[in-house]
Amino acid sequence: MRELLERFIISSTPAWRVLLAVFASTPFFLIELAAHGVALGTPEMRSALNPMAMWLFQGEMVLASGINVLAALWLWPRRHLPDPVPRATLLVCLSIGGTFTMVTILAGTFTAATNLVLLGVLAIGLLLFERQPMLICYGVATFIMLAYDLGVILGVWPYAPALTSQVMQGRDPVWWFAFWRQFVLIAGIVVLLGLLLILFERLDQLHAKLRRLSYTDGLTGLANRRRAMEVLHNEAARQARTGQAMSLVLIDADHFKQVNDQHGHDMGDKVLRTLGHLLMSCVRSPTDVACRLGGEEFALILPDTRREQVEAICARLREQLARQTFGEGEAAFKVTLSMGVIESSGQDVEQLLKLADDQLYLAKSSGRDRVCVAQLSMGVS
Ligand code: GH3
Ligand code: MG
Ligand code: MG
Repeated sequence: MRELLERFIISSTPAWRVLLAVFASTPFFLIELAAHGVALGTPEMRSALNPMAMWLFQGEMVLASGINVLAALWLWPRRHLPDPVPRATLLVCLSIGGTFTMVTILAGTFTAATNLVLLGVLAIGLLLFERQPMLICYGVATFIMLAYDLGVILGVWPYAPALTSQVMQGRDPVWWFAFWRQFVLIAGIVVLLGLLLILFERLDQLHAKLRRLSYTDGLTGLANRRRAMEVLHNEAARQARTGQAMSLVLIDADHFKQVNDQHGHDMGDKVLRTLGHLLMSCVRSPTDVACRLGGEEFALILPDTRREQVEAICARLREQLARQTFGEGEAAFKVTLSMGVIESSGQDVEQLLKLADDQLYLAKSSGRDRVCVAQLSMGVS
């Protein structure tokens, strides 16, 4: 069952997920209906019932649910707003407040499905937006609801002034019914809320895992080409904005085909994994990214790093690799790297890659096992 649910969550479209959240509150609508059944079953209730109030109340339920669904569908594509308090979140929070006020003033809390409406909005809110504002909103609304009830009990203001409620007997609420229903609703809400939170937690974990997998190279555990391109674009944009330094190193293993031919593909894979570890250990800042672009080609993206620092990193990498021997005995062998370095001075990503690749080509053609650095202002070394 859990597996089925997870598969549904991963494969379903956003619209389906929103509907799932909306329908998660279906049991409460059923309880609500059952509560009405009980209400209508008692003669004193039937005599106190105002049919107009009943219709208004049901209509308001349908309207609120409809607004929930429409709002959720409309808000879904806007849920990744970079704004720290997304306008969409505010809209949902306001809709909670608005719906609550309308329901409370018109029909009172014992008769109206305040909790249901809030829960529906909350379920969607939790699914779409940051958790904290939604929980605060729900907390505030519940507090207002309880304060309103307390005011009614203390006689500070009248109950449901706009309507004759179906749980009223004359001017007094039918307490056993009101409490019973509140108890069922609150107990149910606690359970459902718990379930929803577990579900969303799981959904978040699955998303994080998928994201990690889609950004990781399977053999070496480094960032893959997709991630590299994304980081490069972000860094190039940041550099254009702030003018801070940024360097790119393209790395290619020398004569790697021979490694495969002479020592086997498995040994080739082992070398690639070792190169991955070395690259990872050579970049130190958390903003540096080591990636495998494909085959035996790697890259280092080094924000806030000047040419001299990059040369030191490359030298360290070559030193560490020179100390490493692969294979054993007669078949022992060494691996070397060629590298092309460019310190960006505002180029776009394509230009940067081209310039670094030119340097890599130069390193290859001038004998391999070396680092060539682009010197934009003084030609090339
Ligand atoms: P050069 O010094 O000019 O770069 O020579 P090279 O042999 O390294 O150049 P080339 O690009 O022709 O060869 C790359 C080789 O890397 C070819 C391919 O068999 C090997 N290769 C690519 N991906 C993998 C992999 O995932 N595992 C292994 N073992 N080998 C791979
Ligand atoms: Mg190559
Ligand atoms: Mg190569």
